[in-house]
Amino acid sequence: MALRLYAATTNEGKLRDFRVAAEAHSLAIYPLPGMKDIAAPEEDGKTFQANATSKAIYYSTFAPGEMVIADDSGLEVDALDGAPGVRSARFAADSGLVDSPDANDNTDVWNNMILMQRMAAVPAAQRTARYCCVLVAARDGVAFHTAHGTVEGLILESPRGTGGFGYDPLFYLPPLEKTMAELDLEAKHKLSHRGRAIAALLPMLLA
Ligand code: IMP
Repeated sequence: MALRLYAATTNEGKLRDFRVAAEAHSLAIYPLPGMKDIAAPEEDGKTFQANATSKAIYYSTFAPGEMVIADDSGLEVDALDGAPGVRSARFAADSGLVDSPDANDNTDVWNNMILMQRMAAVPAAQRTARYCCVLVAARDGVAFHTAHGTVEGLILESPRGTGGFGYDPLFYLPPLEKTMAELDLEAKHKLSHRGRAIAALLPMLLA
């Protein structure tokens, strides 16, 4: 029987990434039923691992007997001592610029503005950064597997491209000479932190 996975996210960009990555492994990923009506848990962990684990455990209790995956991901910028990190979705909110940390509204635009502002004086050679993703699979409130994925890049001074979401227009991949927002989904899933984390998770699930 084909493995069925439920993704605990309301972030359309993440869901798209999960689906494209899963299709490449002949796997179906569905959004967790009723996700929009489930109260989101606090994401107050200090690490991606802590947040992804507590999310997977929590959401799996809403789909008895099913394997539920949850991720925590974000951008680590070396010149900002690893910020925004686990606060990636709330970078602008933390600085008092906007109220909502909802990644499906204009928050991405504000987050990118804050990033450009903080990086304005940073020289090219020091604009290194990475996207990180920790993905945890849980069933009935028990975490079974954890997988990690990262992708290295540089933070541009101004946005390029219209695809992707979040910080993608500012995240430049030197080997491809493109930002993450200039890649098609197929290319993105192959090298993205989320794609790599899924690729690492699947063998664990299928073992
Ligand atoms: P989370 O929902 O707590 O995991 O927060 C993830 C946040 O990190 C998103 O709202 C984005 O701001 C950023 N992020 C994570 N993955 C990506 C990506 O693939 N592209 C762009 N931004 C990302």
